Amino acid sequence: MEEVESEVKTVKDPDKREVLDRDNSQCSYISKDGVKCTQKHYLNLDHIQPFALGGKSSSENLRVLCSAHNQMFNRMTFEER
Ligand SMILES: [Zn+2]
Repeated sequence: MEEVESEVKTVKDPDKREVLDRDNSQCSYISKDGVKCTQKHYLNLDHIQPFALGGKSSSENLRVLCSAHNQMFNRMTFEER
């Protein structure tokens, strides 16, 4: 849990803790066939609506993702444009 990278500098510590608690300090990714990722290391806080596109740094717009899924979503975001 201490491995959460602070790349999301705009997120306040109480919000980080809230998001981590809500997602059980575990990657929140669920695949199309309903399998939840169980990764608990290399976690990142991800903006559901990208920060660059006006997403807020509040707990409702944040989720916990492992670095692999964080990168996957980042790739998807940039490919959509
Ligand atoms: Zn994951």
